[in-house]
Parts: sequence; C-alpha cells; structure tokens
Amino acid sequence: MTTRHLRAALMLAAAVPLAAARAAAMLKAGHWRLYADRHRIELMPRPRRSCPDCRGAGGWWGGGANPEMEACGCWAGRRTLRITLLPERSTDPWPDEPPF
Ligand SMILES: [Zn+2]
Repeated sequence: MTTRHLRAALMLAAAVPLAAARAAAMLKAGHWRLYADRHRIELMPRPRRSCPDCRGAGGWWGGGANPEMEACGCWAGRRTLRITLLPERSTDPWPDEPPF
C-alpha cells in the first residue's frame, strides 16, 4: 500500500462514521413504520386506513372544556419493537461539573 492509498483509506475511514451519524431512514409499509438511525431501530404500528373508528387518522379529539386526543385502538394497542444500538449522549443542560 502506497502513501497515496493509505491517505485515501484514512479519508474513507473518517468519512464513514460521519455519514453514519447523519443517516436515518424511515420506511412506511403497510401497518408499520420502520425508523432506523445509529442509535436504534424501531418498528412502530401505524393507524389502519380501513379502521371503522378513526379511518386512518389514528384517533380523535375528546369532548369537554379541555379536549384531549384519544388514540385509536387499531394502533395504540399494538407493540412497538425497538432495538437499541448505540447509547445516546446525555443532553443535560446543567452538567455536574462546576462552571469554573
Ligand atoms: Zn383506528
């Protein structure tokens, strides 16, 4: 391997984690939504278009003075599958370290 090849290999090795950090994929197929990034892979249920209650909207607004969104059982009762890949960094705005 020449110096030129070594430099190209190092640049490629440096570029791969950068590309992987920004890469996230979302795929909607049938009654499921697949989300994947470097931290996790999730398979989440989606509302069914053929649902007689929500007709694919996923829920409805309840009545009363403070209406809340009620989730339809066509998706809310189904499980979400999650595989954790890399732990996420803490986004604590107040770290334990002293400021000075
Ligand atoms: Zn529904």
